[in-house]
Amino acid sequence: MKELFLNPETMDIRQVIEGIEILHQKFSHYFDVENPRMKNDIHENYAAILEKEVLPIEGMDIQKVYDDLSFYAQGILKWNHHGAMININPPSTLPSVAAASYVSMYNGNGAQDMSCGYLLTTELIVVKMLCQLAGLDYKAAGGIFTFGGKSTNLHALKHGIQRVSPDAIENGIKDEIVTFSSKQGHPCHSEVCGWLGIGEKSCIHIPADKMGIIDIKALEKEMERVLSEGKKVALITANAGTTIQMTIDPIREIVDLRDRMVEKYNLNYKPRVHADSVIGWVILFFQNYDFKENPLGLLPNASEKIQRQLHRILDIKYADSFGVDFHKTGFCSYLSSIYMTADVSEIYAQGKLKPIPYDELEYGNYSPFQYTLELSRPLNGPIEAYTNLKMLGFAGYQKLICGLYNTAERLKELLGVHPRFEVINDTDSDGFVTLFVAKEFPESPSFFQLGNEGIEETKKFGLFNHKFYLYLFEQQKLGKCWFALDYSSGYHVLSNGIKIGVLKVYQMSPYFTLDKAEQMVQDLDRLITEFDMVKDTFEVKEVPHKPRPFVFR
Ligand SMILES: *Cc1c(COP(=O)(O)O)cnc(C)c1O
Repeated sequence: MKELFLNPETMDIRQVIEGIEILHQKFSHYFDVENPRMKNDIHENYAAILEKEVLPIEGMDIQKVYDDLSFYAQGILKWNHHGAMININPPSTLPSVAAASYVSMYNGNGAQDMSCGYLLTTELIVVKMLCQLAGLDYKAAGGIFTFGGKSTNLHALKHGIQRVSPDAIENGIKDEIVTFSSKQGHPCHSEVCGWLGIGEKSCIHIPADKMGIIDIKALEKEMERVLSEGKKVALITANAGTTIQMTIDPIREIVDLRDRMVEKYNLNYKPRVHADSVIGWVILFFQNYDFKENPLGLLPNASEKIQRQLHRILDIKYADSFGVDFHKTGFCSYLSSIYMTADVSEIYAQGKLKPIPYDELEYGNYSPFQYTLELSRPLNGPIEAYTNLKMLGFAGYQKLICGLYNTAERLKELLGVHPRFEVINDTDSDGFVTLFVAKEFPESPSFFQLGNEGIEETKKFGLFNHKFYLYLFEQQKLGKCWFALDYSSGYHVLSNGIKIGVLKVYQMSPYFTLDKAEQMVQDLDRLITEFDMVKDTFEVKEVPHKPRPFVFR
């Protein structure tokens, strides 16, 4: 048995390197360079697969185990592929994956420094670097890696409750607590209220304007209402980069409003203002970019959008806390999220502990497990984030984000002049996602006029677009379409109150370059022409997986 483990005398890691090479060779049966997905010839459902998998009495040969494992590589979306455009899933940098995998050979437990040595320092270093990026005092601030962006929002609420009622840890929540987010806020802003026992309905969603920005006046009115009813406001979540529209709320105005409310209602606590910046934090890297000289060659629209986003995200230093998902715009693998708070004592308070002063932290007393939600906690997040932050620096992240914005702008420009496609998020989003629709005829009404067209016409428009999505989906499976875009309900509600599904391009791969954007529009042009010839009889048969249903509501 012992040969399966790292020999303490030789410290020979050949088995790991060989294991990776063997797996790579076996996975490669399913590679398909033209296609964003790995090949998939599985036709049975999970129940049929599970019938064949049993716990063996005698252990199996590792070659056979790796064979069986590689079978499940089928259908993987390769986020590194230029055609993977489904969601905010980045490819991970290879050096960060190498670092995290290598470290996992040892004890990758970030519970306390005593077991993983100074490797846990990477968590403290990432906190310091993010403070530098956000403009916080790193000696007063703190941060902890946790399981995903949802957990960063969970922590924000937890800390909000700690402020309202510090003894809630022991006695439970006795107050009637509400939280605020906007209609654009991520669904997890409500979900965490369910998890922490105050109920999802405690999250009040304030209306937002066309850009998705929270209506501050409405927020003020609602705060007045709940406070005068004697309820407690634990948390106001400011969006700092929403998932599709990439809206950044006016964080400072929200903080000022909070301060006014504290005074007016003579509150003995400060409602927490948390910035959900799990995506938008990355714009902070542009704070030292020379937009005039423009060394990276940002396209004019891209430059304007980034500058507007930067102007808003710089307010993050006024928030009490914010979240960062390195597994989204940080180009790390899953999971790598950190919750940051301007006052580190709030983190220690999770475990009813007094903070250890910054100058007194040393090897042997950094023990996050005493106050984190997780006891055993993985090191891969801090290791990957550390690797990328240092390897890429401001300049590297600028380059990556510049690539995303420039390709999106090129795509929007080319789709915008095509008679059969209409970009619908060019004027109401400063992000790098492209939402567009395919039109049946060049003279079909504009998406934005559909509200005046009557229900039947709107439905017809929506159905054509959905059918074209299905066609692209099938062409992908047939190996005749190299991009996997998505069909999504988007965020646009038509003037008649109807929402129809739209096409979404969320490209994240640095291999999606300007010429690939041009190629994509040429291919869309060809594909829609081919679709025209079969559209009346077309029924989708071969698909990578169950397609998304038609959205019309
Ligand atoms: C993705 C996302 C979340 C949830 O983060 P996970 O890492 O998926 O848990 C929360 N807020 C926003 C704005 C997001 O984009």
